[in-house]
Amino acid sequence: MRALLWLKQDLRLDDHPALQAGLSAERLLPVFVFDPAQLQTGAFGTRPLGVHRARFLLESLMALDGALRQRGSHLLVLPGAPEQVIPRLVVQLGLQQVLTLEEIAPDERAQLVRVQDQLAGVALQQVPGNDLLHAEELPCPLEQLPQVFSQFKNLVEQRLHVFQPRPAPQRLPPLPDGAQALLQALPSLSRLGLGEPLSVPASAFPFSGGEPAAQARLRDYLWNSQSVRHYQDTRNGMLGSEYSSKFSPWLANGSLSARRVVAELRRHEAQYGRNDSTYCLWLALLWRDFFRGILRRHAGALFQAGALKATEHAPQRLDQDFERWCQGRTGMPLVDANMRELADTGFISNRGRQVVASYLINDLQQAWRYGAAWFEEHLIDYDPASNWGNWAYLAGVGRDPRYQRTFNVLRQAREYDPDARYVSLWLPELRHVPPHLRHTPFLLSSLQLETLDYPRLERIPATWWPYLPRAA
Ligand SMILES: Cc1cc2nc3c(=O)[nH]c(=O)nc-3n(C[C@H](O)[C@H](O)[C@H](O)COP(=O)(O)OP(=O)(O)OC[C@H]3O[C@@H](n4cnc5c(N)ncnc54)[C@H](O)[C@@H]3O)c2cc1C
Repeated sequence: MRALLWLKQDLRLDDHPALQAGLSAERLLPVFVFDPAQLQTGAFGTRPLGVHRARFLLESLMALDGALRQRGSHLLVLPGAPEQVIPRLVVQLGLQQVLTLEEIAPDERAQLVRVQDQLAGVALQQVPGNDLLHAEELPCPLEQLPQVFSQFKNLVEQRLHVFQPRPAPQRLPPLPDGAQALLQALPSLSRLGLGEPLSVPASAFPFSGGEPAAQARLRDYLWNSQSVRHYQDTRNGMLGSEYSSKFSPWLANGSLSARRVVAELRRHEAQYGRNDSTYCLWLALLWRDFFRGILRRHAGALFQAGALKATEHAPQRLDQDFERWCQGRTGMPLVDANMRELADTGFISNRGRQVVASYLINDLQQAWRYGAAWFEEHLIDYDPASNWGNWAYLAGVGRDPRYQRTFNVLRQAREYDPDARYVSLWLPELRHVPPHLRHTPFLLSSLQLETLDYPRLERIPATWWPYLPRAA
């Protein structure tokens, strides 16, 4: 059998069911298709792939090619629409089967259908892969899974799950005849028209793309530094690399398997004991599966303004406040600091994401989907289910009735950045403001603000009054 392994969001060799399925092939061609549509501006004025994730993707592809070469294979990266590139390769090289991971988002599913339609009888075998829990391990059919997280978790935890991910193979089948001549260099960021991102020393995500970097971080977080043992206390942090696992960018493009993470977490617990923090990391990964379940079930509805609650109306406005939010110039320092960190590095903390999303929706009353699309372009860990799922819930158009949706942003600033170190890092213009005023520069005179070149926040919500500095 001569097979093609079409890699998409599964850029690893470890715990890879489609790769395992291809090992028995006589010849195997690993392919990644770089679709230029990813760089085109869409309905929300943003493009699906921004510079930070593109850099991370190229690093991941380079690492994958290196790992394949060590095992007697190569990665073929070709530009174009997959529905043209994959069938063309199949015909050109006389391949008999295409293996790939299943998709859960509607656009990607539609693409699989288009590829299959063009394959003229050659089978497109879709293998489940990026979930933590596979369908057969769930206590009920996917479509009956609860849509409230606490109920979902209780149901999942009725069973004891054992994760035994398959390690990366030592060798891969050779490439089909004629494939070697098609190999080409990876495109550069500038060739993709994206320019080079600046390297930002203060980034909370100072890591590279690719499976070796993902495995190194997993080892470090669970075994060397054992930061996982304090996760419950640190996970609301915003500064530095250690407040949370930082697994998400590798999980999102599949350089890391969620099942490998939990298998290692269980091994860690067996050796050092389970604590609230190790349990908390398990719950975080369950949230990921929960939103994947929601996307599977509701598909395109999740991307509509009313999302899963057609009767509830989230704000629909879109004006200069949205622009100011994107540029990190709203006049609310905690929001601005997070938005500038996002633009500069492609990563912000979970706390930061909740704060800026809530501020856009509840304080600025802007249409939530534009915020979600801005995240899609800028986050290196962008994932359709987690991004649109979290946004929909914060916009009050998800299904979970108990989800805390409105954040008092000044209170959040006092609680999670009490000495204003975070806002001082990302808003250099506020560094000379007395520390007790750095979260409330709107209390300075107009002249002072003008000198600082920091925007004035015009309306101070009454709910913030208890959190203003006492002397004000
Ligand atoms: C508005 C908004 C948008 C978001 N967009 C994304 C996105 O595009 N991609 C993404 O991976 N996460 C997204 N998240 C979820 C969460 O913020 C990130 O997964 C997390 O901050 C990544 O950092 P970490 O890997 O250090 O997480 P940790 O806190 O160490 O958690 C470990 C893993 O658990 C999963 N996880 C944790 N929290 C969540 C959550 N709330 N929802 C889903 N999975 C979770 C992630 O896979 C994460 O890597 C979003 C959250 C919000 C509020």
